[in-house]
This record gives sequence, structure tokens and C-alpha cells, in this order.
Amino acid sequence: MPLQVLLAAPRGFCAGVDRAIRIVELALEKYGAPVYVRHEIVHNKYVVDSLRAKGAVFVEELDEIPPDADGDKRPVIFSAHGVPKSVPEDAAAREMFYVDATCPLVSKVHREAERHYAQGYKIVLIGHAGHPEVIGTMGQIPEGEVILVETLADVERLKIEEGARLAYCTQTTLSVEDTADIVAALKARFPGIQEPHKDDICYATTNRQAAVKTVAPRCDALMVIGAPNSSNSNRLVEVAAQNGCAKTMLLQRAGEIEWSWLEGVNVLGLSAGASAPDVLIDEVIEALRGRFAVEIEEVSITQEDVNFKIPKVLEERAA
Ligand code: SF4
Repeated sequence: MPLQVLLAAPRGFCAGVDRAIRIVELALEKYGAPVYVRHEIVHNKYVVDSLRAKGAVFVEELDEIPPDADGDKRPVIFSAHGVPKSVPEDAAAREMFYVDATCPLVSKVHREAERHYAQGYKIVLIGHAGHPEVIGTMGQIPEGEVILVETLADVERLKIEEGARLAYCTQTTLSVEDTADIVAALKARFPGIQEPHKDDICYATTNRQAAVKTVAPRCDALMVIGAPNSSNSNRLVEVAAQNGCAKTMLLQRAGEIEWSWLEGVNVLGLSAGASAPDVLIDEVIEALRGRFAVEIEEVSITQEDVNFKIPKVLEERAA
């Protein structure tokens, strides 16, 4: 059976994810195992399992890290999603050696929220409750000075005291279109609200969504490779559904494909979230080739050439 696959580009790894994974790999190379990582370095099981196999130990909180028996400080790495200020403070108080793998584009949002707070603004953060990035951004300023909104209804319900000055910032991995609606509602209710200097939704999120938006109307079905807890992957699924392709599937590996789901599908869109490695995309294409006469068309909307520096402490590799 023939199957046309429209491969959305850009897709998969972004510069922030690539940098975070390199930080863990370089730390393992330089300091040896174990290297501790607070939270999944990026939201992808394959990546986490691969690093675990090399000696990374994943923990959710710093107090899970055992005190060093030999006095040799083991590095602890903070994930790409960013952490509240209390985490590096806690690490310093425990005299831990930490390396921050927060994506520079998340750090940019942190600094912006801090700057607005220092200038006397109350912060409205658009994002998803409970996501580590949101917890990290909220944790840059004192509790009670940042209000989280997730929906248009939240904007309607906002109660702001008379005379308060407002600024907003957003999670980096939101839906571009849904966020534009929320921002418009905020501006309508609070005309003086300050906005970020540059969009907080990052280039990788924006480009992957634009690519999916381009291919979706041509597809009978669309697959996104990514983890269920990956915000940007979930947004790609929504973007496909909102732009003419109602049949969507989020999957982590080829083994999760329900083949009956592909019955009657002639044109399949394929994309991957920013934390999904190429090897998983290749695996899915290979699995499709095992069942169909696959013809691939890559639909590219832009080229990416973003690269982030790694922290100085890891620049010199182990001798
Ligand atoms: S998705 Fe965007 S913000 Fe998140 S790690 Fe990648 S580049 Fe950074």
C-alpha cells in the first residue's frame, strides 16, 4: 500500500535541548559517574534512559542526592526547563557543585520577570500550572507577586487591585495562536500592561508549530513524536487539529503505533517535539516502511542555525 509521508521541518531537537544533553554528557566525561540531574534533563524517556545508562542519576529534589562518602563533590545538573531561585540557593547552602542547564531562552524569561518585578510591576504569567518551566519562572520572584493564567476564562476572572502596574510573560513552549488570543484579552482588560521585549515563545516552538500548520491541511492524519509530558509536543498535536487535520497521534516510539489507526490514510504528516531525537523519527519511518510503500516529502518552512554555548566549567574536557 502506498503512503505519502509529509515530513514537517524544522522538527525534533532544538538548541536548548541539544545543549542540556551535551552538558550532562560532558559532565560525565569530565567528572565520571555518577552525575546527578534534577528532574528529567529534557522530557524524553529515550534520552533520559540513554543518559542513565551512561551514569546519570535522575532525582526530583536535591535531598535525594546522598552526601559524598569520599568528600568528592559530585556535580548536580539543573534541567533545561529551569528552576526556582530557591534551588541554586539550596544547592549553595549544601555546598553542592551545580551546573545549570536551563535553556538560555527560559533564562531570558526569568530575567525579564525579575526586571519587571524590580520596576514595581505585578507579573501575569501565561503558562500551564505544574509544568517545571512555570514553577521555575514563578520561583524567580516572591510568592504572590506572579499570577498564572492558563485560559481566556482566567483572564476574565483576574482580580487586580486598583493602581497596580502589570507586565506579562509566557512559558516558552505554548501554542502561538492560543497565546495571541490570551494576550489580546489581557491587553483589552489592562491596556497599560507591559509586554516582553521579544516574544517569550521560543524560535523552536514557533517554527515547529508553523511547519505543522503548513502540512496539516494536506494530511489525512498526523503523528507527533514526543513525550506525554512534553509541552511543545502536545501543542504540535493541537496545532494540527486546529489547522485541518483532526486525526492526530502523539507517540514516543515506533512500538506505540496502532496500525489500525492508519487504515484509509493516504497522506501522513510527521513531526517531532523539541526533545525528541532523530533516532526516534528514523525508527518510526522504518516501521512505516515495513508496512507501506513510503514516499517521503520534506516540507521545510525555514532553516535553523541556533547554537548555545555550554557553561565554561565544562568547556575543558577531561584530560
Ligand atoms: S523548546 Fe525553546 S525554550 Fe525549550 S529548550 Fe528548546 S529552545 Fe529552549
